[in-house]
Amino acid sequence: MDAAELLALDAEHVWHPYGPMPSTIDSLLVREASGVRLTLDDGRELVDGMSSWWAAIHGYRNPVLDAALAEQAGRMSHVMFGGLTHEPAIRLAKTLVDLAPEGLRHVFLCDSGSVSVEVAVKMCLQYWQSVGRKEKRRLMTWRGGYHGDTFTPMSVCDPEGGMHSLWRGILPDQLFLPRPPGGFADEPDQDYLDLLATEIGRHAGELAAIIVEPVVQGAGGMRFHPPAYLRALREITEANGVLLIFDEIATGFGRTGRMFAAEHAGVTPDVLCLGKALTGGYLTMAAALCTPEIADGISRGELPVLAHGPTFMANPLSSAVANASLGILAEGGWKSDVPRIEAALKAGLEPARELPSVADVRVLGAIGVIELDHPVDMAVATEVLTGNGVWLRPFRNLIYTMPPYISEAEDLVAITSAMVSAAQKA
Ligand SMILES: *Cc1c(COP(=O)(O)O)cnc(C)c1O
Repeated sequence: MDAAELLALDAEHVWHPYGPMPSTIDSLLVREASGVRLTLDDGRELVDGMSSWWAAIHGYRNPVLDAALAEQAGRMSHVMFGGLTHEPAIRLAKTLVDLAPEGLRHVFLCDSGSVSVEVAVKMCLQYWQSVGRKEKRRLMTWRGGYHGDTFTPMSVCDPEGGMHSLWRGILPDQLFLPRPPGGFADEPDQDYLDLLATEIGRHAGELAAIIVEPVVQGAGGMRFHPPAYLRALREITEANGVLLIFDEIATGFGRTGRMFAAEHAGVTPDVLCLGKALTGGYLTMAAALCTPEIADGISRGELPVLAHGPTFMANPLSSAVANASLGILAEGGWKSDVPRIEAALKAGLEPARELPSVADVRVLGAIGVIELDHPVDMAVATEVLTGNGVWLRPFRNLIYTMPPYISEAEDLVAITSAMVSAAQKA
């Protein structure tokens, strides 16, 4: 089939993320990808500034990941995880426990980030059921968050961005705090700290858990907040008998300059969700890690098991490629790559501050954001970006990048200058 036929079929039959059906926008047809570059069907090459939605941290066709996948496919691609186990999953769980903040000792491997949030919430709800506190079943979060697209995660996404009005009566009714004020390097706001203590204290009797993205709020608005709020959340939840879930699906595995964003605050949550870069962007897999206290609580309950078990749980191919990706991270190159990228993003995005329609420019680790004072014109932005040889997918009033850690100086110049041009024209 030629490109025109493929794209016609795509528009007619294939649903794309957040897309209408039949499709009204043209997707780019990708033929292959290597390193940081996507090759389109017409031969054009684009530097991928998105890492395929935070995931492809080591780039495409990475020889180590390719070899791990091929090797595992030669042994077994999948076996059920009920009653059976295998080395790739066991090694993966052990590595995650060793890497994660101290105290998280148990690992539930599942299919996608949203499912890991479902599992994390289920762990917390089942914990309270098991210890005889069935009334503790609501969740609290702060506005501006994103936790996935299945119904429980949707219920704790930003109510406006998540279009809660559309789902009134369907989504569980959760509690929302205002958006965390300030930027990453700012002093924490004392009024906000007081508010956290008051609101959590007031609702402690009905609260199962608080769920937040630590340090970086991703798809809810690409905002960075002072880590001190996370320390406060940890202290207040502990004092009030409320569990704390950190969703590090976007921030995990080095993206913010630490292996996990929780390290900026030096706190351990009760449950940690991981995904996206876990397999280096090769296959879908996520994880929910918890403390022995949660696991013990659940095992003392009326139903002394965690009531969850996806068909493709702990898939060996995903586990093997995750082990290979974690192996590359263990070599430590990311510890200099991420600060190198941070410096390049800061330098490259600086000129955008002078533009009249730019509201803010912010960079943390390997994440760079230009915030406009109006919604991005997607058609114009995509044309400017691809015209500059770069792939990015802006949303709302944000033009942002989180490039692969292997991006070189000229790739980062291409990405940042394309972003500045797009900010000028879109
Ligand atoms: C992407 C994301 C999710 C959802 O993960 P999926 O794999 O898309 O289901 C949840 N939380 C955060 C913070 C994310 O960035």
